Amino acid sequence: MTHVVVSTWQEKVVGSGAMGMKRLRQHCAALVNEVDVPDPFDVRELCARLGAARGKPIHLLPQAMPAGGPCGLWVSTDNAEYIVYEERTSAPHREHIILHEIGHLLSDHGAVPVPGEDSTRMVFPSLDPQTVQRVLSRTHYTAVEERQAELIASLLLERVSRRAPESRWTVSREDAGAVERIRRSLGNT
Ligand SMILES: [Zn+2]
Repeated sequence: MTHVVVSTWQEKVVGSGAMGMKRLRQHCAALVNEVDVPDPFDVRELCARLGAARGKPIHLLPQAMPAGGPCGLWVSTDNAEYIVYEERTSAPHREHIILHEIGHLLSDHGAVPVPGEDSTRMVFPSLDPQTVQRVLSRTHYTAVEERQAELIASLLLERVSRRAPESRWTVSREDAGAVERIRRSLGNT
């Protein structure tokens, strides 16, 4: 059975100041220290390096996300990671969404295991339009996990000294099919 892990990110305030925050920060800092952060910084290059280091490519898929839904989504299959992000927002916000999902990924936040059939429908041909919504409805993260993902996103950016000039965000031909299938599954046409 193929396992797919789905993570979402919704715009909300992640609280701080709780006991254990120092330990959480140390744990996140250790995870971030393992990451080969490109200089100048480019989030796509970061994902390319991280994917190579993990032996599993990370595909970035721009998407017009449905109103009221998440801004970001992480789908993990046996062969690849897919980070879906809201495309109709600023470049810094897109980057933040992606880094937050990377935070879940680095933390091994296993969410909902999805049966192979559903995972196949999600990112491979013959997509069932309701599959993604069904999977999303089963996804739940704790407040601590959300805080951890946010911490990792900010710690990654703390390591950035320079930024690459903003370039066009293009989707590879290989990813275009997956983008189209996710678009349809989210009910966008
Ligand atoms: Zn999250």
